[in-house]
Amino acid sequence: MDFNYSPEQEAYRGQVRAWLEAHQPPPLTDEERARINEDLLWERNKRWHQQLFAGGWVGLSWPREYGGRGATFIEQVIFQQELARLNLPVGVNVLGIIMNGPALMQWGTEEQKQRYLEPILKADEIWCEGMSEPGAGSDLAAIQTRADLQGDYFIVNGQKVWTTVAQRAHFCQLFVRTDPTLPKHKGMSALIVDMHSPGVTVKPLRQITGDAEFNEIFFEDVRVPKANLLGPLNGGWQVLVATLMHERFGISETVAGGDVILAQLIELAKGTVLSGVSAAFDGEIRQALAQFACELAAKKYNGLRGLTKRLKGQQPGAESSIGKLVSTELSQRMTKFAARLLGPFAALERHSSFAPEGDWLRRQLWSEALTIAGGSSAVQKNMIGERILQLPKG
Ligand SMILES: Cc1cc2nc3c(=O)[nH]c(=O)nc-3n(C[C@H](O)[C@H](O)[C@H](O)COP(=O)(O)OP(=O)(O)OC[C@H]3O[C@@H](n4cnc5c(N)ncnc54)[C@H](O)[C@@H]3O)c2cc1C
Repeated sequence: MDFNYSPEQEAYRGQVRAWLEAHQPPPLTDEERARINEDLLWERNKRWHQQLFAGGWVGLSWPREYGGRGATFIEQVIFQQELARLNLPVGVNVLGIIMNGPALMQWGTEEQKQRYLEPILKADEIWCEGMSEPGAGSDLAAIQTRADLQGDYFIVNGQKVWTTVAQRAHFCQLFVRTDPTLPKHKGMSALIVDMHSPGVTVKPLRQITGDAEFNEIFFEDVRVPKANLLGPLNGGWQVLVATLMHERFGISETVAGGDVILAQLIELAKGTVLSGVSAAFDGEIRQALAQFACELAAKKYNGLRGLTKRLKGQQPGAESSIGKLVSTELSQRMTKFAARLLGPFAALERHSSFAPEGDWLRRQLWSEALTIAGGSSAVQKNMIGERILQLPKG
């Protein structure tokens, strides 16, 4: 594997950097921070998303015919690296872009691709992911939400939970049981559901951070056109597995800013006084920082394996579990370290959902979520054990 970037790729990095530096949104003023809330933050991020789209930076590696730029995958990675370097938000419709869009490209009919992909990129239509239910999280094959085919429509009844951004979504990639007589992995299907259909009720759930990013969704006799079946009837398990691989790969990419967090931690250590001297002189603190640096390097090189696979045109596989596990656990330990270093002052930091630096306590609380979302760390370890290390099932 070649670890270096070519002169063309470095030139492209220069273009990305110049564009981002010229267009990046100004930091929030103190006054804006004081009144920021989830709705204002969403609007701000949406404006930024639209600016990125206008600049041709959203869906970089998506084909041009679906609104993307047809760029190489490596160009997309370089863009994400530069976004992380400047600590800029990724925009809105993240799930649509990292998982629903790729799943549509893999499983959708040409008509579905033409209808849904471009509005996802533009964030004109927001998507959410309806997999988890109260009795089916890690074991997604246990889903109970039913879809009965009656004429040209599926009639959907049931409940989903922890559905990120459902309160703002126009569409849901919904996994349902279409044949309860078949074994549980076989009788399920994926549907594209219009979230404004009669019978859909969304109830936001508030998290430990204070924000309400995810929701419960209730479906009561919701009519979904047969044409909205995504992938084969009763073949939803393959669609689900592929969608999850895209999600895990996407999550490890979106927490790619580990180097930025490390740089912030180093500054924090330098500026924190312990027993009269800077924490940066404390042996234990220095060891912890060096350990983070080593783990980030290992994560980066392991990530290059997945990248090589994508560059060869293959879909992400079980190795995306390594990236997801390592990046989310590491981010949890790094933010915990910062909160411990700050001690009681961590609780006094200004809280806002748009704080690229500082705000360590909130970031620590949020970091817990990513070790559960997209499959918990325990489940990723099972995947790594069984699919990569070929260990027998426990
Ligand atoms: C921030 C956030 C956003 C989310 N967004 C979405 C979304 O948009 N759409 C969606 O469908 N879902 C979403 N989820 C749900 C998420 O996918 C589930 O929470 C996750 O898969 C775990 O399922 P569960 O909560 O039902 O826990 P359970 O499956 O009940 O697990 C409980 C505990 O048991 C452990 N466990 C379970 N099975 C095993 C096993 N086989 N081996 C070892 N340990 C095991 C787990 O690690 C966990 O500690 C989100 C979750 C979070 C936190």
